[in-house]
Amino acid sequence: MSEQSGDTAVESPEGAVPPTDALVVAEDVRKSFGRLEVLKGIDLQVRRGEVMCVIGPSGSGKSTFLRCVNHLEKLTGGRLWVNGELMGYRERRGRLYELREKEIAAQRSDIGMVFQRFNLFPHLTALGNVMEAPVQVKRQSKAVAAAKAMELLERVGLPDKAGAYPEQLSGGQQQRVAIARALAMEPSLMLFDEPTSALDPELVGEVLDVMRDLAAGGMTMMVVTHEMGFAREVGDSLVFMDDGVVVESGAPDEVLSNPRHERTRAFLSKVL
Ligand code: ADP
Ligand code: MG
Repeated sequence: MSEQSGDTAVESPEGAVPPTDALVVAEDVRKSFGRLEVLKGIDLQVRRGEVMCVIGPSGSGKSTFLRCVNHLEKLTGGRLWVNGELMGYRERRGRLYELREKEIAAQRSDIGMVFQRFNLFPHLTALGNVMEAPVQVKRQSKAVAAAKAMELLERVGLPDKAGAYPEQLSGGQQQRVAIARALAMEPSLMLFDEPTSALDPELVGEVLDVMRDLAAGGMTMMVVTHEMGFAREVGDSLVFMDDGVVVESGAPDEVLSNPRHERTRAFLSKVL
């Protein structure tokens, strides 16, 4: 359907309300690109305050799944609720309507995302990057947004870099600014897609420390990562994906020390 389809009722109106009170509920989530079926029916739930780590081989669909949670990709099947809302739809008088792109952006503003590549705006300072969305999207005054942005830069340990431009910052510092920028919208869910994979090894720790603090503060997080130490220490749950399905999931210690499936064992033997 086109982006102009906001007034089109969708066939099955039941299910606007999520089946549980988990913050993220994925039900048989499917995604194909043309004939390539990338997600083959993902079912999972993330409770409020839970840190879920997602591991799996390259090409298994981890990024695509996070992008579906954020509705950067439109599902080709199944349903996804975040914070009580069915992503991409609105319920009105017992019928479901597909949201327009602008309305999807509003739903998405409740979700923060941090990518492998710290894609900061190069022409804005660290402070400017963190203020951007609150000013542009939430129409906050610059004074209010700047004060909040300063607090966030302190929280990620970079108050002295407020006036620095991205090119003047290390990769680890840029990634911390990217986290502060995502937090500025006060999201109820934070998604991390291999946030430390592009960093020099000595810079990984400072970013993981910020994420650890965030988790300790009660943030609900989904983290695609190869950092098994982080997954074991900080994760409440661990999901192993392969070839577009969840092969196994459970407590990180369980999955890492005692994998039940051959595919999980084979993967872990390569990365541990
Ligand atoms: P992972 O993050 O686990 O490495 P991805 O979700 O990036 O895996 O990719 C899963 C599969 O989907 C890959 O085969 C990839 O080439 C394919 N894919 C991802 N995005 C697109 C797209 N926009 N168009 C076509 N194929 C895509
Ligand atoms: Mg990926």
